[in-house]
Amino acid sequence: TKTVGVLALQGAFKEHAELVVACVRENRYPITVCEVRTSEELNRCDALIIPGGESTAMSLIAQRCGLFEPLQRFVQNPSKAVWGTCAGLIFLAREITNDAKLVTPLQALDVAVQRNAFGRQAQSFVAQCDFTSFMTPNASMRNSGQPFSTVFIRAPVIDRILNAESVQILYEIDTPAGHNLVVAVRQKNILGTSFHPELADDNRFHDWFLREFVL
Ligand code: GLN
Repeated sequence: TKTVGVLALQGAFKEHAELVVACVRENRYPITVCEVRTSEELNRCDALIIPGGESTAMSLIAQRCGLFEPLQRFVQNPSKAVWGTCAGLIFLAREITNDAKLVTPLQALDVAVQRNAFGRQAQSFVAQCDFTSFMTPNASMRNSGQPFSTVFIRAPVIDRILNAESVQILYEIDTPAGHNLVVAVRQKNILGTSFHPELADDNRFHDWFLREFVL
């Protein structure tokens, strides 16, 4: 059995845990899920999901409760699977191009991210995305093959890839101005997404993460 932890310091951790539980139930995966607030809990995990929320708060709480160094060791361990969504992606990044002093990142994912790249909360949006170029489908899921309603809330974008050999761009969105913005990347065992699959009523993204990175 594998243990998937969800970092539960701040943000949308309940939602992530619920979607992982739904995948495990539907597919009978040999996986248990736990919320992570201490290094003891972290040490039991084979994988860690870092949720959306507020990266400034998340990094501050991690430092204050002594979890920052254990997290850094965990995310740099190539045998662990890691996924950061939105604030979680910012927390994993090597570099933050704006407000750099406000967040101390874990520096595990070789990208530079720009926080709040789409504007304020009121500029949140849902995009219909087709992830079939990188996502192997689980044909037993009822909505297999349909596009994803993808939620962006004060989302970051990946401005620069700092290690082109190992970071793979998984998805870009087009803007009305005609440039493509990178919103999903993978570097070996680490997945980073600007958006929040945990906030849509759809567990296909979590199912893919479990099949591709954890099992
Ligand atoms: N803007 C937030 C931050 O900088 C992230 C927002 C989110 O996770 N939805 O941390």
